[in-house]
Amino acid sequence: MTKAIRIHAPGGPEVMRWEDVPTPEPGPGEVLVRHAAVGLNYIDVYFRTGLYKTPMPATPGMEASGTVLALGPGVTEFAVGDRVAYGTGAVGAYATERAVPVDRLVKLPDGIGFETAAAMMLQGMTAQYLVRRTHRVQKGETIVVHAAAGGVGLILCQWAKHIGASVIGVVSTEAKAELARAHGAEHVVVGHADLPAQVKRITGGAMVPVVYDSVGKDTFMGSLDCLAPLGLMVTYGNASGPVPPVEPALLAAKGSLYLTRPTLATYAAKRADLLATANDLFDVVKSGAVKIRVNQTFPLSDAAAAHIALESRKTTGSTVLIP
Ligand code: NDP
Repeated sequence: MTKAIRIHAPGGPEVMRWEDVPTPEPGPGEVLVRHAAVGLNYIDVYFRTGLYKTPMPATPGMEASGTVLALGPGVTEFAVGDRVAYGTGAVGAYATERAVPVDRLVKLPDGIGFETAAAMMLQGMTAQYLVRRTHRVQKGETIVVHAAAGGVGLILCQWAKHIGASVIGVVSTEAKAELARAHGAEHVVVGHADLPAQVKRITGGAMVPVVYDSVGKDTFMGSLDCLAPLGLMVTYGNASGPVPPVEPALLAAKGSLYLTRPTLATYAAKRADLLATANDLFDVVKSGAVKIRVNQTFPLSDAAAAHIALESRKTTGSTVLIP
């Protein structure tokens, strides 16, 4: 037997129970991984509350790092003892051991520890595709990043600065503002009530070519008003709730805007894309251009406390759960 968090019905943090489960057997194309660290992500909350659907009972979690314990039939790409990590695929990471499809797994380079890896695979690969592919951020551009002191946010600020962009970070407190500034945000706006006016002031009226908005419902309309004509609205998360339906004509009225709702699942669906994204991330982390901040750790058995902290906006940077 081994241990995992299980949810029998969607609900609050208290529905997550630390239970005995049978040790998984790696099937064809899978390896058994003993988790050293599990990443906490906002998407775990969406699955727990039922905003995103999954069959019950379910073990939440998208991301972990650890050591390969056993190989399933046909696996040649990995060996027992390999240090590995993943951040995409099916839910099920809140467990001490897990059978993982090798298609979703990457080997960890030397110098990247288990906690850093568990903190960065999902949030860091997200930052990668957002600044490199959804919109290719250019040197000299000014961009808006919401939840700038959060897990994705701190990585996004550092990466955009590394490219040479000027980041306007949006946060909810002065302490978070300081943290965002220390991680590359040149300008920080506390609260989003007058964000378009602040962006107008900072950009001298030019507004910005792209807004990265992970907050969703509360910030969507204001974010549209931060964009220059032909700008790109990237709505990539729902921390405040899902964005209500939008009339396409609204995008015309606000300056022929583009709107995308991207997800890492698409950008890393092909193995080649997953590896390219992960390698780009490993490079910026190994060079020191992007630092992964694990600002909170919790025992995996107490995942409920981690969810409470995340949902009440008490966390900054990344959080890992230790089995
Ligand atoms: P964060 O560490 O960013 O935590 C969420 C942050 O959102 C909070 O700290 C808070 O920052 C802000 N926030 C604003 N309004 C609310 C609210 N009503 N309730 C809670 N938080 C709020 O989480 P992650 O880094 O894990 O994820 C960031 C976002 O990115 C999430 O929305 C997630 O779903 C999304 N995401 C999307 C992916 C994709 O591919 N589409 C992949 C990965 C993440 P503050 O207090 O400063 O406002």
